Amino acid sequence: MNGKHGHRSSIQNRDMTPEAFVREITGGNRSALSRAITLIESSRPDHQKKAHEILDLCLQHRTNSLRIGITGPPGVGKSTLIESLGNEIIKNQANRLAILTIDPSSQQSGGSILGDKARMERLTGKKEVYIRPSPSSGHLGGTSPKTHEVILLAEAAGFNVIIVETVGVGQSEITVESMVDFILLLMLPGSGDELQGIKRGIMEIADAVTVTKIDEAERGVLLRSRSSCEAAMRLLPKKYPCWTPEVILSSAVTGQGIEEIWKNIQDFTTILTAEGLFQQHRKKQLNRLFTAMVDEQLRQAFYNHPEIEFSLQELAAKVEENLISPFSGAQHLVRKLLPLPQ
Ligand code: GDP
Repeated sequence: MNGKHGHRSSIQNRDMTPEAFVREITGGNRSALSRAITLIESSRPDHQKKAHEILDLCLQHRTNSLRIGITGPPGVGKSTLIESLGNEIIKNQANRLAILTIDPSSQQSGGSILGDKARMERLTGKKEVYIRPSPSSGHLGGTSPKTHEVILLAEAAGFNVIIVETVGVGQSEITVESMVDFILLLMLPGSGDELQGIKRGIMEIADAVTVTKIDEAERGVLLRSRSSCEAAMRLLPKKYPCWTPEVILSSAVTGQGIEEIWKNIQDFTTILTAEGLFQQHRKKQLNRLFTAMVDEQLRQAFYNHPEIEFSLQELAAKVEENLISPFSGAQHLVRKLLPLPQ
């Protein structure tokens, strides 16, 4: 399909109506899907406008889907595991898989952290798999609020399993949590000992943990890693009353544990769906994203308003000179546009 549509893409981008874009995307034209994602990722206002028109139309073409977040520090084996897990997932011929990965070339730290990153060669080029590297610069861990929109486009294109890869750092987990149904946390063997402090935040949102690269580790180290992970998880509040996260030992090289991970994800989906929690979680996520978008759009509209730009400096100067308190200064400013109750 690339050949058929690719060479005309620059002309098509301008000329294609949102309706035509959606027709192509839902008809399985990958080049149209990729171009729509590029529009989503663009910061140009005209691109954004078109992207959101496409998105709104795509919402009418949603399929039942499963969204999986794969997270863990650089080098833990995320890409390699996604490749093995991906092959497991598409053994079921009804599954079509979209993978949203971190593009190593866009990382500022480039060579040092992600230079060794695996590139999923065994999945590339398969007709039931779509891989989209996302630029991660500017957003920690490679997910941004736009990732949610990319997921929606991929679903409209008929992909029913979506994998989102993120690097396990700070905020990115919180972001990925608002986008996926299931979070798999990857850990290296031997990293169970220092679990108490730093990783708590990450562990709290994990629906399963896998200790990776077990082909390289000694059995004793593995068993210790697993039991300290399990002990740490027991101390955390449960995300769902009906689900206890498991710690699974895996190797993407030998394939050990990969089937078990996929089965665990499917069990999770079955149990949560039966309890009504799967849809409830998605609704909560949408509500959270909506609130975040309202905040963001308010902020932008406010600061870009010409009157605010002018008054902001004037009031800031008064605050600095102690002529007016920061609270009153802010109130003056906001009331210029929004008539707040007295
Ligand atoms: P990521 O940065 O988390 O995506 O990690 P990668 O998937 O790129 O893997 C980092 C390195 O670990 C690569 O050199 C992989 O070949 C290697 N690796 C990944 N999984 C395994 C595994 O299960 N066993 C072994 N021995 N090496 C692995």
